[in-house]
Amino acid sequence: MTWVNDKDVLQAEARVFDKSVKLKTKNSKLWLVGGKNFKELFATTLGHSIYIPSAWTSEQVRSVLVHECRHIKQFRMFGWLFGMGWWAPAGIPLFLLFYAAVPLPIGLAWIRYRLELDADSVFWKFALKNGVDKEIVHQRSMSFANTVFKYYGWPWPKPWIVWGFNRKFNKMLKSLSK
Ligand SMILES: [Zn+2]
Repeated sequence: MTWVNDKDVLQAEARVFDKSVKLKTKNSKLWLVGGKNFKELFATTLGHSIYIPSAWTSEQVRSVLVHECRHIKQFRMFGWLFGMGWWAPAGIPLFLLFYAAVPLPIGLAWIRYRLELDADSVFWKFALKNGVDKEIVHQRSMSFANTVFKYYGWPWPKPWIVWGFNRKFNKMLKSLSK
């Protein structure tokens, strides 16, 4: 059983986080542009659509919904740049630059790192507010910091990523304990 069997249920669950979201499979060969790992291991958000590897289980999909829906919000915030309107086709190459495993000059890589940190931190907050142990959430933040380093085209030096993720996590714990 893959998530595709449960698509309607998951779609309804995702709408809680973002009303406009559409779940889609990542079957198109076009995704190979970012390499085999990019196509098979990662969900990718483009505009309002979250593209998900079709071999994933429903649980895997649930574990990324908050993070990916935050990317939809980012697209909305940067809509003029990434293109959610009639100019969308021009936004797609820009999107690939920011999200796919394309090695970037350091300034653009910084933007990608910030977008990922922002998206993941929304997920940490969601998990913490729903009673997940802070150690577990912290572990998740560190393993995602590692993913960002390893699979996102080395966007930013690893010690800096880990530092940035830790800083954000600690700030969040403080603000939630107030
Ligand atoms: Zn992301």
